[in-house]
Amino acid sequence: MEEYDAIVIGCGISGLLAGLALSKEGKRVLMLEKDNQVGGVCRSYNVDAFTVDTGPHIITGLGEGPIQLLMDNYFDMVPKFIKNGEYFVRFGDAVYTFPWTIPEWLSFSPFQITDRLNIVRALLELMADYASGKNLDEKAVVEYTGHYPFSKRVLRFIDSICIFLTGVGMKDTPVSRILSSGRNKNKTNAKKIKEVLLEGGKVHHYPKGGIQSIVNALLQSLPKNAEIRTDETATQVVIENGSVSGVVTDKGEYAADIVVYAGPNKTLPELVKLPESYNQRFTNLKQARTLTLWLGLDKKNFLEIESKKGSFTFLGFALNRQSMKAYPFPFPSFRCPLKYHHSMILS
Ligand SMILES: Cc1cc2nc3c(=O)[nH]c(=O)nc-3n(C[C@H](O)[C@H](O)[C@H](O)COP(=O)(O)OP(=O)(O)OC[C@H]3O[C@@H](n4cnc5c(N)ncnc54)[C@H](O)[C@@H]3O)c2cc1C
Repeated sequence: MEEYDAIVIGCGISGLLAGLALSKEGKRVLMLEKDNQVGGVCRSYNVDAFTVDTGPHIITGLGEGPIQLLMDNYFDMVPKFIKNGEYFVRFGDAVYTFPWTIPEWLSFSPFQITDRLNIVRALLELMADYASGKNLDEKAVVEYTGHYPFSKRVLRFIDSICIFLTGVGMKDTPVSRILSSGRNKNKTNAKKIKEVLLEGGKVHHYPKGGIQSIVNALLQSLPKNAEIRTDETATQVVIENGSVSGVVTDKGEYAADIVVYAGPNKTLPELVKLPESYNQRFTNLKQARTLTLWLGLDKKNFLEIESKKGSFTFLGFALNRQSMKAYPFPFPSFRCPLKYHHSMILS
């Protein structure tokens, strides 16, 4: 049986980063990927002259988040990041800058003043719960909106944001997801509250050349002691005397004292026996299914606000058994897939 210092299961961006860090720290690493290519949902592909990203479209927390730390320490070359610009909201023919902070919400003119005040009250209630240490993973966004008499327009808007962030509406979106869309999860309460209420999450970046360029830079930085095997599915994490000792796949068996699992949490119980509390948490996770359409536009979508370089429009469709909803979420950008449309389904 072949022996390694560490085995990484799953070569999405998480597994690749784990494999890179371990191998750069001198470990002999085997990285297993069941698909025929690496990157997971963090990939791009070209259609004619256009680059289509399969999942992430912005990087938050660049400069102070974990991706920056990993790039600084382990990448031999770093992709060039550019600012993604502002987010905009369109109501009919009018376009507004997305409101992130309390002052911006208060002056967000598409909503009635009573709605604006209630949004601020709901945000303050949320931040008070956050500061008092309440578990916001267990609370849905609707629990906060339900306390105030919002108009239908505001409720639909909040529902759209939830779908944009998680693929499901405000009944199923944990309120913690709204907070984690800020720049850095590891901040003190006071800093986090200030960020959410007064600063907003405005600084987003995009790697030039598409999301795939992060994966490409990472692959070019992998040392020789890291080995990737695609088309190979891990089926079992082997435990001996209470410690991990290797991995069984559909093609063989490998020994290692360190195993990193970077596949979906939900399927981990199929590979290894876990304590019951973990099992329940993982198997109860709900998975959202979304359909993303990338539209190449031959007409400006944002009137005077739009940059000369073009735009793209994000349309999120939340799919479930009962209904299919469509929420346009357009914003200007430097990418310009003109006169082209393409669609893909991610689940
Ligand atoms: C549509 C969409 C938009 C997003 N937008 C953003 C964004 O704008 N900004 C942002 O920061 N994040 C965004 N995200 C989230 C971000 O893309 C993901 O959090 C991140 O890419 C997940 O990486 P991962 O490596 O954990 O998982 P994945 O990319 O899912 O990779 C897991 C890999 O493990 C492999 N695998 C699973 N089981 C096994 C097994 N048993 N054996 C071998 N291999 C296995 C899979 O084939 C896969 O390649 C978005 C996600 C989606 C889907």
